[in-house]
Amino acid sequence: MKDCAFCRIVARESPADIEYEDDAVLAFRDIYPKAPVHVLIVPKRHIPSVMAMEPGDAEAVGRCVLAARALGEAKGFAARGYRLRVNCGPEGGQVVYHVHVHFLAGGRASGA
Ligand code: AMP
Ligand code: ZN
Repeated sequence: MKDCAFCRIVARESPADIEYEDDAVLAFRDIYPKAPVHVLIVPKRHIPSVMAMEPGDAEAVGRCVLAARALGEAKGFAARGYRLRVNCGPEGGQVVYHVHVHFLAGGRASGA
């Protein structure tokens, strides 16, 4: 998708600090981190939102969660834990309409 900020990162047309990559997934640091470690995990294929997900998208989104596990292990949070967050739609706080999982770690989790 030409007009999608995260597709441009996946295509290496925009810069990003890449933390993890495999055939289905790219993970890069959030430019406005809300935790000591804040990484965004995106499917390489454009899926706008959980709210637009179709059954055939389940594998790609599930791979993002598996990538979070790999990131947690690589960054030393496997035992301490971390938070995964997926914002969905306007009232869910979604700003970028390419599905992404926020990986937040290194701070004390509070609230829901
Ligand atoms: P959301 O509110 O769930 O849509 O989250 C979008 C996130 O993307 C925010 O935390 C932004 O700081 C982050 N963000 C937006 N543009 C970029 C970018 N070019 N590189 C890295 N992170 C970005
Ligand atoms: Zn996209």
